[in-house]
Amino acid sequence: METLAGTQLVYDFADGSKDMRELLGGKGANVAEMTRVLGADRVPAGFTITTEACVAYMEAGGELPDGLEEQVAEALGRLEERAGKRLGDPDDPLLVSVRSGARESMPGMLDTVLNLGLNDESVVGLGGDRFAWDSYRRFVQMFGNVCLGIPGDRFEELIEERKREAGVSEDTELDTDDLRALTDAFKDAYDEEFPQDPREQLDKAIRAVFDSWTGARAVEYRRINRIPDDWGTAVNVQQMVFGNRGEKSCSGVAFSRDEVTGEPEPSGDFLVNAQGEDVVSGVRTPKDIAEMKELMPDAHAELMEILRTLEAHYRDMQDTEFTVEDGQLYMLQTRDAKRPAQAAVRFAVDAVEEGLLERAEAIATIDAARLDALLHPSFARNARYETLTTGLAASPGAAKGEIVFTAPDAVAAAADGRKVILVRPFTEAEDVAGFHAAEGIVTSRGGKASHAALVARGMGKPCVAGAGELEIDLNAKRVRAGDTELSEGDRIAIDGSTGVVTADDVELEEVEMSEDFKTVLAWADELRSLGVRANADTPEDASKAREFGAEGVGLCRSEHIFLGTENQQRMQDMIMAEDDDERGAALDDLLALQQEHFTGLLDAMQGLPVTIRLLDPPLHEFIPNAEQLAQEVERARIEESDDLEELEHTLDRVHVLAETNPMLGTRGVRLGVLHPEIYEMQMRAIVRAARAVLEAKGSSPLLEVMVPLVTYEHELELMRGLLERVAGEEDASTLDLSIGTMIELPRACFVADRIARQADFFSFGTNDLTQTALGFSRDDVGGMLARYLDLKIVDRNPFETMDAPGVGWLVRLAAWTGREAKPDLKLGICGEHGGDPDSIELFQKAGLDYVSCSPYRVPIARVAAAQSAIRASSSP
Ligand code: PEP
Ligand code: MG
Repeated sequence: METLAGTQLVYDFADGSKDMRELLGGKGANVAEMTRVLGADRVPAGFTITTEACVAYMEAGGELPDGLEEQVAEALGRLEERAGKRLGDPDDPLLVSVRSGARESMPGMLDTVLNLGLNDESVVGLGGDRFAWDSYRRFVQMFGNVCLGIPGDRFEELIEERKREAGVSEDTELDTDDLRALTDAFKDAYDEEFPQDPREQLDKAIRAVFDSWTGARAVEYRRINRIPDDWGTAVNVQQMVFGNRGEKSCSGVAFSRDEVTGEPEPSGDFLVNAQGEDVVSGVRTPKDIAEMKELMPDAHAELMEILRTLEAHYRDMQDTEFTVEDGQLYMLQTRDAKRPAQAAVRFAVDAVEEGLLERAEAIATIDAARLDALLHPSFARNARYETLTTGLAASPGAAKGEIVFTAPDAVAAAADGRKVILVRPFTEAEDVAGFHAAEGIVTSRGGKASHAALVARGMGKPCVAGAGELEIDLNAKRVRAGDTELSEGDRIAIDGSTGVVTADDVELEEVEMSEDFKTVLAWADELRSLGVRANADTPEDASKAREFGAEGVGLCRSEHIFLGTENQQRMQDMIMAEDDDERGAALDDLLALQQEHFTGLLDAMQGLPVTIRLLDPPLHEFIPNAEQLAQEVERARIEESDDLEELEHTLDRVHVLAETNPMLGTRGVRLGVLHPEIYEMQMRAIVRAARAVLEAKGSSPLLEVMVPLVTYEHELELMRGLLERVAGEEDASTLDLSIGTMIELPRACFVADRIARQADFFSFGTNDLTQTALGFSRDDVGGMLARYLDLKIVDRNPFETMDAPGVGWLVRLAAWTGREAKPDLKLGICGEHGGDPDSIELFQKAGLDYVSCSPYRVPIARVAAAQSAIRASSSP
């Protein structure tokens, strides 16, 4: 264990600054900075015990580190001198608050003790009046709860009892005698003597705040918010000021702008004659900050001025706590305000217009990952509903409709004009038609990287995944959640931004891209260097992507084109074909269909680059399910159906084709090597489509033909030869055509220089690269990953955010060696990570030219790319 001998463990507010967040925690660093900005008479004095002291305390199993007690005593001495009062002085006591303060704020998760320093003597010194006794009873209550673990309810019961006896209904109506009696009753609720010695109180409070870091609530919050356990919390000891000192006193919270809409009017709540705890606890209903203007005009005017000063100093929207004691305003803390996407966007635009921030600074204040909330409908803000169950927020947006349990039922219902939610244990490729038809999707199994989640996000459909409480009976077409049972046709509403499922008819709010959002995106486009494309399979997806600002299609999965359409069978026939003749016939049909489809796609992108990937069908997604087929065979046998022979034949074929591990099977380029006629047909369709568009529009689309799942340079060499031959046969000389490959296998990364010699471009398929580099199956990782996240083996889902040291390193290696061999090699990424802000940062560093992601993530990627460029230009 590291020794802290000689280390400074306690800092006066006057000695800290906002750059010392790691050591002093967010609150400590900001209060120190604020002391400097606003002056010592606006911010009550105090000191911060460092996070390092907390870490040492935890490591030593609850022993305070050497030297801490002495340093606290010295800091307390300085505080007493500055305040002109002493802790525990029977005549004029100093009281302090003892508050937690982690590096990242963890609202309500850690402990706080107020009014510390009161005892049977100093309560008299504080005035012995109602205010003094109110403060004392609060202290005994909080100390008992926080430091000794007495349940809060116990104290609330005693308060209720007292109010009954006094015949009053509000806490504020209790008089001095009541409060004195209540303080005694609280002390009686203790299992031990209430400590009269203020130093003992302080010591216990510091320990309690340290201990709250490892409390169950805080641990759970950190797990969900991915905050490391080993950061520890700082402890802030600050001179108390009193918002409960009468009618000219109050406590409140204030935002420098409206925290929901971002409008430039400050917002907040306050309570007259109250302490801060009352405002946040919800025991009394606070008033809107605007009303403070009439009740305390001077303090209000000063607060407004301070909010402006703080915002200008921190260069971000602020969230503050304040107290007015007898007309005098004090600021207790400030921090950058957490805000929903619409407020973030509004602030960014206003801040630039007001001259507060430069565009790059304004863009940097936005949490890019949350921006897709602005593109989807949501539950109306004031909607009331009862939650049926909660799953993972897998694809944002809200939807409602009748329950259906199968994709065909969804398709049929949509054809009837009914709105439906598809509810399934999990989904597969053959359900994709149902996704199109449904308003939203719910699954009881699978995680954020499950098929349902990926497809839903790709299509911009709301999805709640892994709602494990749902018991779905597909045969009976019923779903049960606890005591509630619902059947097909019953209505539900889902919110894929929160994971909520409800049987109530919640009102939804439609959203349009606001002018502010458009402005932010335009600025982002000026600032970014990475291109942003979209993964789009259909002309409709492509149009949507363009609406959101995509600069091209980075991935058209050509095998997805037919899913859910009447032509799906032709694709299946082609894959299931038993000989060249059969396959040839199926290919002839597909050629015309593909050509028509590609023409639509190229047309929709109007001259922008379009990357079409040749077929990459993991067989299990494209051949019939053997188990279901066996049941059908059985049924046909019993019914002596004429179809029996054909069904049996199909089943035999399925058995021949079935692979134990289809994700590592006859996919991608392997299919092209084994059956060159398939890629040949596709290339013909692509060239013919491009020529048709060229003839119609007069300019050639920028065509990029991409070979998937290449691991050997010779695979690509072979395919390149084939594709160039077909291009020659189809007279592609007038087209702007390039041939490249996906990089999605580790060997391809290691030999990227060799592969680059055969490729005009690389596009990293980080879904498969993650799967193959980590050896985790994309389809099965869900449950296991949840446990890995719990145990902190991983801190992020590697299928959502790049595993930077492992898979990310492979990307950097391949980008580097690929460009060594071919300096003008174009580099892109089209896995799910292309829309993830943290991964985008990595792609910027790796020197990629563009990212490609699902249409709904294009705006996120535009802003995240700008932020990455800004960071890249400001770091050495
Ligand atoms: C990938 O593997 O990252 C990719 C984009 O291809 P798919 O998801 O279709 O395998
Ligand atoms: Mg892939």
